[in-house]
Amino acid sequence: MTDEQGLQDEIERLRQSNDDLYKFAYMAAHELQEPLRTIESFLTLLNERYSSELTEEANEWLSETVAGAVRMRDLIHSLLTLSLVDSQELQFELVNSTDVLQAALVDLKPVIEAQQVQIVISDLPTVQADEVLLALLFRNLIGNSIKYCSARPTIKVRAIQKKEECIFEVSDNGIGFEMKYADKIFLPFERLHSKMDYPGTGLGLALCKRIIDRHGGKIWAQSIVNEGSTFSFSLPTLPNNTVRKL
Ligand code: ADP
Repeated sequence: MTDEQGLQDEIERLRQSNDDLYKFAYMAAHELQEPLRTIESFLTLLNERYSSELTEEANEWLSETVAGAVRMRDLIHSLLTLSLVDSQELQFELVNSTDVLQAALVDLKPVIEAQQVQIVISDLPTVQADEVLLALLFRNLIGNSIKYCSARPTIKVRAIQKKEECIFEVSDNGIGFEMKYADKIFLPFERLHSKMDYPGTGLGLALCKRIIDRHGGKIWAQSIVNEGSTFSFSLPTLPNNTVRKL
């Protein structure tokens, strides 16, 4: 067997094992939903019918348990989304990225209004992408920019058209992070800030990375502590509106 053939076989083996892992994650998350639903319904019943008979301490334990169940639901939901992004066939089409961004902002409307978030959007191009996943990506990045901020959030979104790719930037005036963690934050479950102050699953940026990987682009971050962060991602510009198949 040639070295080249050996390498191809190894790549194929790794791809297969990666596929299996994502399938396993999907099945596991899917199966966990049912027992969680049972736990949540009985916790709700316990709370509604018996909380007046419980001591203050028991009620405190009950609300901690409810909070744990909610957190588990968020985790399972994020895991399901992550494994779906990996396994499903993407729908590549020409999409107006301003429209996609606006759709993502509709989902964030309550928090945008509550925190009086200022969003500045420069002209964004039409790109070849999966519309649903691009919206999910914007929602995660902008959601983080709002969450990891101690002042009134100001978020700027712009795009720079290069020869073979388009680079999008989402910048904020938030709490930022040390640049030594700039790669680590894209790994699943890696979080830099405390769960108490900034709730989250640690899967949002892993999801963003996977979405961009599947579009054949790159994602990266730059930040200065207490000044803000910029998350950038590239989408390849495809000639003749070719539909990309991965
Ligand atoms: P989480 O659910 O914790 O928000 P993410 O995967 O979206 O998970 O982000 C991973 C970590 O990266 C976060 O826990 C946070 O520490 C850091 N982070 C992400 N976005 C920002 C941002 N805009 N400003 C500062 N830190 C950020």
